[in-house]
Amino acid sequence: MKDSEILEMMVDSQSHWPGLCSNLRQFFFNYGSLMSLLHAEEEFDIDYAASLAGRSVELMAKNEIPATPANFTLWFNFALGTIPRLNKTIYALLANKRKFDRSVNKGLYDTFVKQQVGALGGVEIPTEINSIIANARDHLAVAISDNRSQIQALDQVSSDLDRGQDAAVAIKRLQSELHDATSRAARTEARLAESSAELAKIKESLAEAELRSKTDALTGIANRHMLDQHLRSSLISAMEHGTPLSVFMLDIDHFKQFNDRHGHQVGDQVLRLVASVLRSCVRDRDLAARYGGEELIAILAGTELEECRDVAERVRAKISGAKITKRATGEDIGAVTVSIGVAQFVPGEAADTLIRRCDVALYEAKKQGRNRTVVADAADVALERNDTSPQSS
Ligand code: GH3
Ligand code: MG
Ligand code: MG
Repeated sequence: MKDSEILEMMVDSQSHWPGLCSNLRQFFFNYGSLMSLLHAEEEFDIDYAASLAGRSVELMAKNEIPATPANFTLWFNFALGTIPRLNKTIYALLANKRKFDRSVNKGLYDTFVKQQVGALGGVEIPTEINSIIANARDHLAVAISDNRSQIQALDQVSSDLDRGQDAAVAIKRLQSELHDATSRAARTEARLAESSAELAKIKESLAEAELRSKTDALTGIANRHMLDQHLRSSLISAMEHGTPLSVFMLDIDHFKQFNDRHGHQVGDQVLRLVASVLRSCVRDRDLAARYGGEELIAILAGTELEECRDVAERVRAKISGAKITKRATGEDIGAVTVSIGVAQFVPGEAADTLIRRCDVALYEAKKQGRNRTVVADAADVALERNDTSPQSS
C-alpha cells in the first residue's frame, strides 16, 4: 500500500468525526437551553436562551474548550454576562492568549459558576435529564477513547514501518482497528443523537408548560401574570430607550345582562371573540391580555397616545360590527359593544398608576354612554403622585 493510500485511509477513518461533532453540538445546544429554562429567571425567554446556547457552543469551538457539561455551563454564563467577574477574567485570559486547559476551565468553573449554580439550585433537575446527561457522557467517553486508540494504532504502524516490519501486516492490523473504531463511532453518534432528541423533547414539553402558565385558558391570550411581567419590563425598556408606550383597557358593556339573557356559555363564546379581535388588531410585538373577568388590556410599546387610541377605536368598531349567532341554535343575537380607556405611560409612573388611569378613562366611557373610547389625562399622574406621596411635615 502506498503512503498516499494510507493517508487516504486515515482521512476516511476520521470521517465520522464531523457527524459526531455536529450531534455533540446539538446535544449541548439542547442541554443549554433546557438548563436555562429550568433555571429561568422570571423574564428569560426561550429564544434568548437558545441564542445564548448557540453562542456558547461557538465560543467553545473557537477556543477549543472540551465539550463537558461544566464547561458548557461556564461558557453559557459568559455569554449571558451576568457574572461580571467571570467575564472580566475570561477577557483577560483571552487577551493574554492563555490556553483554556483543564485546570483553567476547572478553576473558572469552581470560582465563578459552582456557587451560582448552587444558588439557583432551588430547582431540581429532573432525574430523567440527569440520566440522559450521564448516558451522553458515557457515549462521549467511548468516542474519546476510540479516538485515542486510533491514534495509538497509527503510531504503532508508523513505528513498525520505521523498524522495517512487514508493511502488509502492519497495515492489515491498522485496517481492522480503524474498521472497528469507525463502527463504534457510528453507534456512539446514533446514541448521542438519540440523547439529544430526548432532551429536545423534554425541552419542548417544558416550553409548553411555560407557555400554558402564561396563557389564559378561556381566551388563549396572555393571562394576568404574564401581563404584569410584560408591563413591568416594557415600562423599564420605555424609560431606558426614551420610547413612548401606551395601554388600553376594554370592558364588555352590560355583560351581566348578556349572560343572564343568553347563558354563560354564550357569554364565554363572546369573550373569546372579543379577545381574538383584540389580538388581531395589535401587532405581534404588542401584548393582548386578560386583566380579569370581562376586562382585557393591550400594551403597545413604541406607541403614542393618538396612535393607541386609533387602534382601540378599530377594536371597538370591529367588535360592535360583529354579528353574534348562538352556536348551538344558529339564532342571531345581535352584537355586543365594549368601552375602552386609553392612557400613555408617563416616564417614572408606576404600572399600577398607569392601569388605574386607564380604568378611570374606561369608567368615564361607561358614564358617557358606553361603546366608546376615552383618553386618560396625563395630568392625573401628578394628582395621583400628590395623593400617594408620603406625608411630609
Ligand atoms: P358594564 O357595562 O358596566 O361593564 O356592565 P357589566 O354587566 O358588564 O358589568 P358588571 O361588572 O356588573 O358584570 C360583569 C359581568 O361579566 C359579570 C360576569 O358574569 C361576567 N363575566 C366575567 N367573567 C366572565 C367569564 O369568564 N365568562 C362569562 N360568560 N361571563 C363573565
Ligand atoms: Mg367589568
Ligand atoms: Mg362590563
